[in-house]
Amino acid sequence: MDCMMPTVPEFRFSKSVFVQILDALKSASYRCVTFSETLKEPQSGVKTCLLRHDVDVSMQLALEMARLEHEHGIQSTYFVMLRSPMYNLMSRHDSAILVELALLGHEIGLHFDAGCRPNPGMTLEEELRFELDVLSQLSGHMVRSFSFHQPTPEIIESRLELPGVINTYHPSHLSGYKYISDSNRVWRELNPFQLIDSGLARLHMLLHPVWWMCSDADVKDCWDHAIRLNFVSMQAQLLGTERAYGEPRAMTLIRY
Ligand SMILES: [Zn+2]
Repeated sequence: MDCMMPTVPEFRFSKSVFVQILDALKSASYRCVTFSETLKEPQSGVKTCLLRHDVDVSMQLALEMARLEHEHGIQSTYFVMLRSPMYNLMSRHDSAILVELALLGHEIGLHFDAGCRPNPGMTLEEELRFELDVLSQLSGHMVRSFSFHQPTPEIIESRLELPGVINTYHPSHLSGYKYISDSNRVWRELNPFQLIDSGLARLHMLLHPVWWMCSDADVKDCWDHAIRLNFVSMQAQLLGTERAYGEPRAMTLIRY
């Protein structure tokens, strides 16, 4: 006997679907606010959405997303890493993008890898303060918020805090905000359209640029896309500055 299972429509991740989310937020009269704005008194009767983008793999993809938001009159917060294995905020290419994100009207937050402890003499609070200070200087703006990269349950439970700085995982810092995340392109509860339809007054959406700016169906292909983009920007500088580098290279990635 045939068993007729209800079919769940597959959720697609692409630039155009991302733009549909921005349009849906505007149609539902949500005001997109940055994380530092939550430190002020909320305006009563105004529905607000925190758009959070943790930048794990590529500043170039973050910039593509930031430009789309800017074209649609939407402000968000980009949480960037100082200890990323994928990009370098001190490099010519990525430091220019960091400045451009702020020029587009977006806010910069710190994406903090608490598992990286290169200075045994420093406490976690001191490491965090150090990275917040460095990122504030690099971006030219005081950084007032941080999110953990790949946090363990113990790190989240530690409720790390510094005066006047928002920890996106601290239960009392963003209380009342309904949180969803696109981690590895899996929605645990609601997708963004369902969240917007809920009409809740305060939303907190974590959308990683790589999952939206890359249209490949397979997340591994999105990683490859980002690695190739990073190589292109790295090579552009090498070609311009290193005489011994020689001819441009094309890069092929092989999984084994
Ligand atoms: Zn991360």
